Amino acid sequence: MHKNFKNIDKVTYGRGSFSQLAETVEPFRKENNHYFVYVIDNYFKGKELANKLQNKPEDLIYYIDVDPHEPTTEQIDTLRDEILTKKGLPSGVIGIGGGSIMDIAKALSLMLTNEGSSTLYQGLNLIKKAGVYHLGVPTISGTGAEVSMTAVLTGPEKKLGLKCDWTVFNQVILDPELIASVPTDWWFYTGMDTYIHCIESETGIRNNAFSLAYGEQSLKLCREIYLGDKAGQTPENNDKLMVASLMGGLSLTYSEVGVCHALSYGLSKILGTRHCYANCIIFQHLGDIYLKGHSEFMQMIAKHKIVLPQNLSKDWNEETLTAMANVSYNLPFMWHHAFGDNWQQKVNLDYIKDLFRRL
Ligand code: NAD
Ligand code: ZN
Repeated sequence: MHKNFKNIDKVTYGRGSFSQLAETVEPFRKENNHYFVYVIDNYFKGKELANKLQNKPEDLIYYIDVDPHEPTTEQIDTLRDEILTKKGLPSGVIGIGGGSIMDIAKALSLMLTNEGSSTLYQGLNLIKKAGVYHLGVPTISGTGAEVSMTAVLTGPEKKLGLKCDWTVFNQVILDPELIASVPTDWWFYTGMDTYIHCIESETGIRNNAFSLAYGEQSLKLCREIYLGDKAGQTPENNDKLMVASLMGGLSLTYSEVGVCHALSYGLSKILGTRHCYANCIIFQHLGDIYLKGHSEFMQMIAKHKIVLPQNLSKDWNEETLTAMANVSYNLPFMWHHAFGDNWQQKVNLDYIKDLFRRL
């Protein structure tokens, strides 16, 4: 089956475009109970951005601390129940933040109209009804969460997205000014998530001219941002990074991610390591699988003097390794993409545990 991907309905891009947020959402205020819910990364509380929201008094604003953990099913269920009890169904949800907030906004939009716990809907096409209007304003670029059809949540049993056409944002506003304050290490890790998306997308059997077109353009931008003469965290490069992240997300959507992401899910689910950081920790050891991409990645690491942790696996017992390997093995579409139809002849729990032992 060929993919039939639902893209974002509308995209605003450019420096200062955040100022268009209020007028963009205004036509949708007539829906439901005529108010908007803002979910905003706690980093922006009391900062300049908070004064530029142009929200209405009836709107609900939640500043969310995304640092203790990645978004959870319980967090979404609690927030949904609180909002519906307080004010009924909102006109829409506006998410302002990094990948965590993008996922919270997408999941919340869906769970406001779908009954029961979000754990019931972790998987593909399990959502029963369209959510409310939702708009994303990314403030870190890299994960591609602004464009993807999934809202990744960690539940009691699995780390898995609410994945369906309705998950995709109705609108995104890409304002490169908003990513200027990202700490340099996170600028690197999240940008590398984009880079790895594109390398994995093009290295596997689901690669095609459509995914490659987005992937190649995104890789070209990543090379300029992280390796070029003008490499570094500059306004010009931030303009490029926002586009690279979006295109990387489109590339993997029309193709697939691979070994690094399969392992990364295991590491994040069992040990709580953040997605982009986990990918960097893993990708440094995949030189035999992603030959060309790996050497370029190592050049980027050296150029930006990034120090990644080594010998982590010495502290992992067999139980931890098995738990991580199980999570990774249960992502067959990634292994299939990376190694082809006969992937099961190569990939089993022992093979995956050996990959984890490299870390
Ligand atoms: P994040 O949203 O977790 O934020 C990382 C840190 O950056 C936080 O401390 C945050 O407060 C801070 N921050 C955000 N914007 C900032 C800014 N402009 N200036 C300064 N600090 C800022 O980071 P992320 O890496 O973008 O997202 C990770 C999450 O994305 C994970 O939960 C992962 O599961 C999810 N993810 C989702 C998809 C998808 O397709 N839905 C894909 C990959 C990853
Ligand atoms: Zn990723």
